[in-house]
Amino acid sequence: MNNDKKNRSPLKNPLVIFLVISVIATFILNMAMMSFQSPTSQEIAYSDFLKMLDEDKVDEVVFKTEQIVIYEKYDESVPVEINTSTALMQAMGIDTEALVEKAKENSRKIYYTGYIYNEKLLDKLDEKGVEYSTPIQHSNPLLDFFLTWILPLVVIYLLFFILTRSMSKKMGGGGIMGIGQSNAKMYSVENATGITFADVAGQEEAKESLDEIVDYLHNPAKYQAIGAKQPKGALLVGPPGTCKTLLAKAVAGEAKVPFFSLSGSEFVEMFVGVGASRVRDLFKQASAKAPCIIFIDEIDAIGKSRDNQISSNDEREQTLNQLLSEMDGFDSSKGLVILAATNRPEILDKALLRPGRFDRRIIVEKPDLKGREDILKVHIKNVRTEPDINLHEMALATSGAAGADLANMVNEAALRAVRCGRKTVSQEDLMEAVEVIIAGKEKKDRILSPKEKRIVSFHEVGHALATAVQKHTQPVHKITIVPRTMGSLGYTMQMPEEEERYLMSKDEILDQITVFLAGRAAEELVFNIKTTGASNDIERATSLARSMITQYGMSDKFGMAGLESIQNKYLDGRSVSNCSEETKTSVDNEVVKVLKECYDTALAILKDNRDALDEIAEFLIDKETITGDQFMEIFNRVREGRNKDAQDNAEESE
Ligand code: ADP
Ligand code: ZN
Repeated sequence: MNNDKKNRSPLKNPLVIFLVISVIATFILNMAMMSFQSPTSQEIAYSDFLKMLDEDKVDEVVFKTEQIVIYEKYDESVPVEINTSTALMQAMGIDTEALVEKAKENSRKIYYTGYIYNEKLLDKLDEKGVEYSTPIQHSNPLLDFFLTWILPLVVIYLLFFILTRSMSKKMGGGGIMGIGQSNAKMYSVENATGITFADVAGQEEAKESLDEIVDYLHNPAKYQAIGAKQPKGALLVGPPGTCKTLLAKAVAGEAKVPFFSLSGSEFVEMFVGVGASRVRDLFKQASAKAPCIIFIDEIDAIGKSRDNQISSNDEREQTLNQLLSEMDGFDSSKGLVILAATNRPEILDKALLRPGRFDRRIIVEKPDLKGREDILKVHIKNVRTEPDINLHEMALATSGAAGADLANMVNEAALRAVRCGRKTVSQEDLMEAVEVIIAGKEKKDRILSPKEKRIVSFHEVGHALATAVQKHTQPVHKITIVPRTMGSLGYTMQMPEEEERYLMSKDEILDQITVFLAGRAAEELVFNIKTTGASNDIERATSLARSMITQYGMSDKFGMAGLESIQNKYLDGRSVSNCSEETKTSVDNEVVKVLKECYDTALAILKDNRDALDEIAEFLIDKETITGDQFMEIFNRVREGRNKDAQDNAEESE
């Protein structure tokens, strides 16, 4: 179907407008004809009609399809009125006799009655000398043909057309004719993906595994000679934004083969069987182009395990079955390789993972410190920067960010540079972009009241002090009380000094919980109030304390028992409980206990450093943002002053 035609609304088509109007007109005309009866006509019973006939009152009878129209004989006793003088008319040579006859005929009373089959009626009419007739239907054969054959067809076609249009809109294109076709985006070799492994930073292990596939696509004979079979598919597993799609494209780019990409959810439609036929179509297209790569993103949309389900999904199961059989069916010696990506490998159907299908699993993890720096290097190439930028610092500040986040940050920094009217991206732009991604944009128009500003300031300095005093924490990088769009009124940014940490000890966890709770502790200590500002701290502290007890085996009470396990490791990492209700209750108690202890520690730290707390908080209220260095400078100065006072006091008392 031609697209152009498809997009035009049927209501804009002149032919359609004409048809609709003519149908309506015909209808109205028919209604009018049916309701039209001479105003003088009157309905009577059939028996009355027979009676009139017997009494010789009937002048003329007309049989219509459903009724009999009866013209009564003109009542001679009533004179006919002709207005113009008869003499004048006679003078003008007009036949007055005929006129009178005509007038008489016109003023006959008209009755009608329903049609009843009666054999003898005609005999009787003959006998009485009544004139009878039936009107001839003057029909147009062309119009008849049109109304009975063409019009219904047109109406049905129109309905069908409108229905399928609205349906195909819901399904995202293709029309009813296109339902079964795969809508894989095809990247041909000419306008190839253009992406190579050089565009993918880090992920060396993943690249190594994929290298073999590239090599096979280049040179299948080498493998076939020795009798080695190429794996048919590889499953890329990892959190969102970790270059799974990018890797697949890079494989195609390296091997210089066509790249078919589509998302698992695109297979599954509302009709059973559509997905299956799409899979078939995809493999047909791909086999014709082999060697090539098929990339199915979010394969969990179709590959969800078929059991452990209360309600089954026929469409998805059929699609999956088709995919399985296609994967068995195709000949990998042709060089057809299927790559699929998912971030929920645990829910995939076992049949998908068995040898001969997606038997290779390539884990694509979030990048570590070095990986992040490398990714930043790849993306910074696309923007013009000042010479002195320090990507290492940026990598340090972005622990836990995936590649996509980093790409986004570089772009955000470039946007900021443009906003500031600069031609190059500075280090400041980069670090600000990190904060924008982590905490949201600065919200300059939100003015805190002086009272609130004080509270937020003490809250943040509370966090920072707890960080500075305790041994097992990362240093403060920055404290700010400028509200951000993602809801925070202020925040304290910590940054590791050098290497990234992969392990956390129990002491470190306890220190971290203390840092989280120190914000509220400062509020309580200084203003003796509790505010809602601590809600996020509380959430994070609680989940850390819970994990410590249920997953890391760090509580004395439960020892090494694993009471919770993680689901969706690559997504939100939600945990599910594995223990009995009683144990859950005592876990809760234990969590409360840990939090209480940490809170007390935080309170003690702040009491001991009240002078530093006050001074730094005042500084922050004044300046709104303070760097880690400024913070440490004030903190150390106050502490030294305090130590000196203590020494002096000691000397005095001696
Ligand atoms: P996924 O498919 O895993 O969700 P994508 O492959 O779509 O993630 O990655 C999104 C973007 O993130 C990529 O287009 C790329 O710009 C960037 N990116 C992610 N990881 C890397 C990396 N290791 N090297 C370079 N760019 C990366
Ligand atoms: Zn806080």
